[in-house]
Amino acid sequence: MRKKIVAANWKMNMTQGEAARFVDAFLLDIGEINNVDVVIIPPFTAIARVTEALGRAHNIKVGAQNMYWEKSGAFTGEISAPLLRDLFVHYVVLGHSERRTLFGETDEMVNRKMHAAHEAKLRPIVCIGESLEQRDKGNVEKILSTQLHGSLAGLKPKELQETVIAYEPVWAIGTGRNATPAQAQEAHAFVRHTLAEMADKTTAERVRIQYGGSVKPDNARELMSQPDIDGALVGGASLDPRSFAQIVKAARNE
Ligand code: PEP
Repeated sequence: MRKKIVAANWKMNMTQGEAARFVDAFLLDIGEINNVDVVIIPPFTAIARVTEALGRAHNIKVGAQNMYWEKSGAFTGEISAPLLRDLFVHYVVLGHSERRTLFGETDEMVNRKMHAAHEAKLRPIVCIGESLEQRDKGNVEKILSTQLHGSLAGLKPKELQETVIAYEPVWAIGTGRNATPAQAQEAHAFVRHTLAEMADKTTAERVRIQYGGSVKPDNARELMSQPDIDGALVGGASLDPRSFAQIVKAARNE
């Protein structure tokens, strides 16, 4: 059984004060968290404040939205895996579609970051997904396969098992238009099948695959009840503590 994982990608939002208020409200609402992994992914500037506000809620982990593959050095403006570990960060999002489309990240760059993250014992959440044009041309599987082979190249089965994959159709991110549960399940099953080909069936069965793209409290339950959907990467709806708590509760099947 794979444990569900629900993550809040705050993108470039939330001051330190807003982040601390979010955590307080979220903790009050959510109560005990034991059968789902929850990750809060603030902008770099609010990471320390979120960790502080979480206090003894050690079962909620903190993530980062990006990192560079080198450990240290003359890379002005970049953040490395060891620097994130120093802030008690456990997860890092790599290859988000906004990084790919707005900042020119390629699968090769994502792959270098993947290796650096694993080396530092950070768990990557690697994002893949097709554009609307690619879907309309019937190229979903081709795109997903290329992204998986490119970004996961050279990972050992154990590293793959510690990687979270987020299937995020680009046309569903921030658009209010989510994939239907059937469309998402079809893509997730294909991802798992590809992982089995790249590694082995046991490894593929252990990898958690999140769905992302306009997940909201009212569609989360149905999406996460699909057999290959192991959680959600949530953007817009994760900025409100009550909506995010409802999505986590949907993952807990409440
Ligand atoms: C995301 O940022 O990864 C995302 C899925 O955003 P939204 O939920 O707003 O579509």
